[in-house]
Amino acid sequence: MTLHNLGYPRIGDKRELKFALETYWKGEQSEAELAAVAKEIRRRNWQTQLDAGVNLLPANDFAYYDQFLNMSTLLGVIPKRFRQEHYDLEVAFCMARGRAPSDDAAACCAGHAGHEHSEPVSKTTSKADYAGAMKKWFDTNYHYIVPELEDDTAFALTDTRLFDEVAEAVEMAGLAKNVKPVLVGPVTYLYLAENKGTAIPKLSRLPELLAVYGEILQRLADQGIEWVQIDEPILVLELADEWQQAFQQTYDVLSQSSRQPSSQAPLKLLLATYFETLGDNLSLACDLPVAGLHYDGLRGAKQLNDVVAQYPADKVLSIGLVDGRNIWKADVTGAIAHLQDAKAKFGDNLWVAPSCSLLHVPVNLEVEEKLNPELKNYLAFAKQKLAEIKLLADALNGQVDEKALAANAQAIADKQQSKLIHDADVQARIAKLDQVALDRAAPYAERTAVQKPKFDLPLFPTTTIGSFPQTQAIRQTRLKFKKGEMSEAQYIDAMQAEIRDVCERQERIGIDVFVHGEPERNDMVEYFGEQLDGFAFTQFGWVQSYGSRCVKPPIIFGDVSRPKPMTVFWSQYAQSQTDKTMKGMLTGAVTVLQWSFVRNDQTREATCNQIALALRDEVLDLETAGIHMIQIDEAALREGLPLKKSDWAEYLRWAVNSFRMTTSGVQNDTQIHTHMCYSEFNDIIEAVAKMDADVITIETSKSQMKLLDAFVDFQYPNEIGPGVYDIHSPNIPTVEQMVDLIQKAAENIPAERLWVNPDCGLKTRGWQETEPALTNMVEAAKVLRKQFAEQVKSA
Ligand code: GLN
Ligand code: ZN
Repeated sequence: MTLHNLGYPRIGDKRELKFALETYWKGEQSEAELAAVAKEIRRRNWQTQLDAGVNLLPANDFAYYDQFLNMSTLLGVIPKRFRQEHYDLEVAFCMARGRAPSDDAAACCAGHAGHEHSEPVSKTTSKADYAGAMKKWFDTNYHYIVPELEDDTAFALTDTRLFDEVAEAVEMAGLAKNVKPVLVGPVTYLYLAENKGTAIPKLSRLPELLAVYGEILQRLADQGIEWVQIDEPILVLELADEWQQAFQQTYDVLSQSSRQPSSQAPLKLLLATYFETLGDNLSLACDLPVAGLHYDGLRGAKQLNDVVAQYPADKVLSIGLVDGRNIWKADVTGAIAHLQDAKAKFGDNLWVAPSCSLLHVPVNLEVEEKLNPELKNYLAFAKQKLAEIKLLADALNGQVDEKALAANAQAIADKQQSKLIHDADVQARIAKLDQVALDRAAPYAERTAVQKPKFDLPLFPTTTIGSFPQTQAIRQTRLKFKKGEMSEAQYIDAMQAEIRDVCERQERIGIDVFVHGEPERNDMVEYFGEQLDGFAFTQFGWVQSYGSRCVKPPIIFGDVSRPKPMTVFWSQYAQSQTDKTMKGMLTGAVTVLQWSFVRNDQTREATCNQIALALRDEVLDLETAGIHMIQIDEAALREGLPLKKSDWAEYLRWAVNSFRMTTSGVQNDTQIHTHMCYSEFNDIIEAVAKMDADVITIETSKSQMKLLDAFVDFQYPNEIGPGVYDIHSPNIPTVEQMVDLIQKAAENIPAERLWVNPDCGLKTRGWQETEPALTNMVEAAKVLRKQFAEQVKSA
């Protein structure tokens, strides 16, 4: 039985690639030195896979920056602004990171602003040589560089690194037929590419694109390659007819070109889908003229039997039952049972693999030294997942490793009973969930009637989103405290001094509603995870987010509860330093869920509800402590949307309910805010309105308020703070610019429901730009107030 892998993490056990890239970008290392690190990572990855018994090694799963970008450079899809006579690696880096205006081609600027997690990740644009847009890869936290199709884009084999890396892999594997290059499929490539200043219909480019794919396949065949993995994950989306037809057309053509006479043996294509069921594309995918199909048996579980039944037995069916998206040990005994029918039908044509590329999980559990040993025994990272696949493949081949299988089964059974994971108190509370009100005591109209006089704010009240610049000093203090180099009393002193400092600054600037600045938080999810039961943190559990940027998601392993208040101490102190209203600041349940590895033994909804209940207690404790304006950030609400639109309603139901559950307990005159760092609300506005926050702040400045349309068309009933300046840019917005934006907003949203604030938190900015920017923002609000007072007078 063939045991293959769809892709291996390329950052290295300890993020070696990240450090090499950043050193290179700083100009402190040559390209040759960078290439050597990359080569060593590839070699080690292949060795790890060979050692694990993988008999078809993936190649071209390595990328300096992004495998999608690799595809663009391979196909010659290079934006005009970066084209040059001879392609080199610098071009790819410029496409990803932009190029500073004054620099020559050799110096790319740090185009990606350090904003975490937002979608799509925004970048500082620098004149003509701005970086390519970046988008989330399906529902992962990986981001790809969006290909730009221009009027004169001509597909042509350009970046030929692919063939070199395939040759490297062949050398490692010994035989060309044991290497399987991985390509993004043409239909997925075109689907995710975007037209830029051209009206050429994307699909009309297909024949030209396929010609280049044909050339690539030909060259791979000439290298002796037998199997090529073609990733077409858009097959799990709900596709329009024309895109379904494009699949037919594409694979008709490619099946011809892989049968060209000059190659020794015909190339075989393994079409790979993952992340969801095939839905209505099931028959399409099963009938395409390729040699095999990879199917995600976990996220696609609902259709696994249909796939097994429908896929032709004389072709290869690869099934992934080892989770490439999560960190739990696989239930190998269960997987063996699951694959019996497929084994009976497909025999040796049944292949086993992880559910998707292992890019989305941390690299190696072995290097973790501090995890609870019991928990560690329930986990598997990329390297360990290979061993699971091996165990599974051997068992299906009739070579059962009884000892390993028993150990795996024991871990699975232990986990089900584990006291570490199951908490009777949390379960008891969840059992009574239907007794938790989802509605606030009174509707918004009544609430605002008591809130307005209580907070007594001017028209166009000004505020910020929570964090203030995280200076070197703040980071140092946190680090020292964490390392035990500073006592708790000293730490508290230092943080309180920071809070006093931001209070003074806000006072000076003239902000109406204060925040404490979040100096004690390094990350908006980690901060809460560290204080909640049921969360664990790894030392090296990094996953690539984009380029050299990696994230280390918390692991939600067990029932979630809150041993004690998490933010009350800081918020209360902050409030004591000012007469202005101090906003409490929490991260919402959906966002915590979305940016963590989650349990696989209960639904996301169940886990989300547990977090929401813990946050509900925090909200009520804040209220009792005198914090009567509380913001709950749901930065990731949108990115939690399922891949199939038909599943959205169900997700939005529980996601919105979790927010309502978090907030419903407060008095009418406690004001609930929420914040979302994106701007696309058209298709979820109804759900956002159902959250019934008194105030929502959103990101709108970059779209010049155009994106407020959703709120206008829907007649969003509560208060809104459309961001009036882009915090990702170091530019200081002028008073006029912001007056202009607020005026635009006020044309459509009643002034008494408008707030004035930046797009997002300010932690990645410095004070040198933050103070003047906020000063201008406050001035803009004053200008508007005056204008409106005059309007009222003249009316
Ligand atoms: N309160 C958070 C902050 O200001 C919100 C960050 C976010 O939405 N990404 O940093
Ligand atoms: Zn934000």
